[in-house]
Amino acid sequence: MTGKTLVVALVALAAGAQAVAAPSRAIGHKALDACDLVPRNNLRIPDDGRSTRSGVSRARFAQVLSAAIAVYEPVFRSRGEKLIVRGLWGNPDLNASAYPGRDPIEVLERGGGSGEVDMRFRRVDIYGGLARHPEMTADGLLMVLCHEIGHHIGGLPVAGGSWSASNEGQSDYFAAAKCMRKVLEKVDNVAAASRMPVDASVRNKCMAAHQRDAKEAALCVRTSMAGLALAKVLSDLGGDGRVGFRTPDRSVAAQTDNAHPAAQCRLDTYLAGALCRVSHESDLSFESPLKGACVPERATNSSGIRPACWFNPKFYERPELLTRFF
Ligand SMILES: [Zn+2]
Repeated sequence: MTGKTLVVALVALAAGAQAVAAPSRAIGHKALDACDLVPRNNLRIPDDGRSTRSGVSRARFAQVLSAAIAVYEPVFRSRGEKLIVRGLWGNPDLNASAYPGRDPIEVLERGGGSGEVDMRFRRVDIYGGLARHPEMTADGLLMVLCHEIGHHIGGLPVAGGSWSASNEGQSDYFAAAKCMRKVLEKVDNVAAASRMPVDASVRNKCMAAHQRDAKEAALCVRTSMAGLALAKVLSDLGGDGRVGFRTPDRSVAAQTDNAHPAAQCRLDTYLAGALCRVSHESDLSFESPLKGACVPERATNSSGIRPACWFNPKFYERPELLTRFF
């Protein structure tokens, strides 16, 4: 049974279950948009006790969340903000969301209170249905969490909307280039990567980009494979067909695309982030799209730069164009 067939079957089983919408509500007169992992969809995978056969178990789900929270709570605290991650295991949705606000009940269920959004509270919700997708892995789930954290602190380009969230492609880039690296840096990635069935082209690219540093190359491989698992889930949800490291998206965005790129384009972004040698200590910036990123002039080779399928290369020459597009 393919992943798609299985999802469709599970959705059919869940047909009677009430849909739980990902949040997008108004606060007072101010619209609040949640940044989702994928466009809203009607797929559901309920927790029916069979999830241990595929996807990520409840225990692993909790472990992944704890690992990311332990690393990023202090980062947000140093910015004067509070990171609040909710792992909604019982929720059958295949999505995750990032949004600011003090009170999620007020924000999400009652349509907001009288005040403005309190930007000191930075929220991430991740739904159990996503963890139960048959293609999902624990590392893929960490990439999801990192993507949502990236909406809060991933730098330019930002999407137009009610709050200055990093756009979809940039949140993916942040996830692979900064967050995965920061969360996994103290783990034995050499052992973990050696157990993975990795495409030789990825191993070679990671070794070359990280100048044969075995630990960095292993982290690059592990991040790339997390990206592949997630891209397979995204492709299944979006109906994008096969994705792989040998079939990069050759399209060139006429303008930087703030929306969700196609699954192959997102995989290319995860690989680029994994290959980028700029340290995770060097933050991506809301002042310059170049800071903390791999850019053509600085890259030792062509690896690690944000792919043109969503990031318009004009920004390298004329970053002032940002004001026009955003
Ligand atoms: Zn997103």
